[in-house]
Amino acid sequence: MLACGYLKKRLLRIQAGYLLSEGPGNSRDVPITFSQRVQVDDDLYLDALQGKLVLTRTKEGILAQGKLYVAHSRQCDRCLDAFIHRFELDVAELYTVGLDVNRSVFYIDSDGEIDLAPLLREEVLIEESYRAVCKEGCRGLSANSGNNLNETGESAELPEAEEGPAIDPRLVVLKQLLS
Ligand SMILES: [Zn+2]
Repeated sequence: MLACGYLKKRLLRIQAGYLLSEGPGNSRDVPITFSQRVQVDDDLYLDALQGKLVLTRTKEGILAQGKLYVAHSRQCDRCLDAFIHRFELDVAELYTVGLDVNRSVFYIDSDGEIDLAPLLREEVLIEESYRAVCKEGCRGLSANSGNNLNETGESAELPEAEEGPAIDPRLVVLKQLLS
């Protein structure tokens, strides 16, 4: 792969330690704005990520809630071309104080930061497991030639020979006589 510019996943860590010293119920709005490619994991990059999270101090830690808008390059399930898939993620996850697997797999680290990367990775992989097409009415690949029908304009119909021509009614009578 060519080296190209992207934001390091370090930037997906949000400082939230100040909320821990406040009492339960306190909250802050945190705008999330990445208008360029950002790394989420070694093999996962998002083309854009925007939205807002509300961080709320709870008894157990910090609850992150909000809606994020994601743009992610993927392959069309019909024509196999790459396209930018845009979707919304509803986030509602608890980050516990120190790892507490009984409550959540996410936690506030010793620097008081919450890391959005593992959360995004999980959510994006779930979203990507569903079928998606590059555009409404994508015509997919030709069953005959394998060409992308969006580009060639060739017919998606199978050749007539596959089904066989209709039998002439006179031949049906002949067939009955013969049997
Ligand atoms: Zn397509």
